[in-house]
Amino acid sequence: MVIFEKLLIRRKIKLDKYVRLSDYKDKYPDVFKQRMASFGCGEGWRGLVDRLVQKAFDENFCILQVKEKFGLLRIYVTLYTEELSAFIQDLENESSKICEECGSTDGVTTMGDWLKTYCKKCRNS
Ligand SMILES: [Zn+2]
Repeated sequence: MVIFEKLLIRRKIKLDKYVRLSDYKDKYPDVFKQRMASFGCGEGWRGLVDRLVQKAFDENFCILQVKEKFGLLRIYVTLYTEELSAFIQDLENESSKICEECGSTDGVTTMGDWLKTYCKKCRNS
């Protein structure tokens, strides 16, 4: 319980802006028609999520899950092709170089008690 509360406090401090399903659902309803396991990450990764949603829309597959895990963006979709798998791998890898809080690429590291990816400024604030 203590750990859970600590986690909430930490998230509240560090991530006050989130990428949410409601940011996309109206514009791209078909991309999310399946039941979502979870969807969300820090505002800094919005550009990565935008690219995923656009591709899902263009190529007609659904997004099942978008989340942060161990400091990286994790994406699950309904379609498997080698090309799409490589595309998703690229987005996930890119998230390690972009601050989840503000989108900066300056001095980004993945570390801390809960392995979060932040730039120098956000990590120290
Ligand atoms: Zn930052």
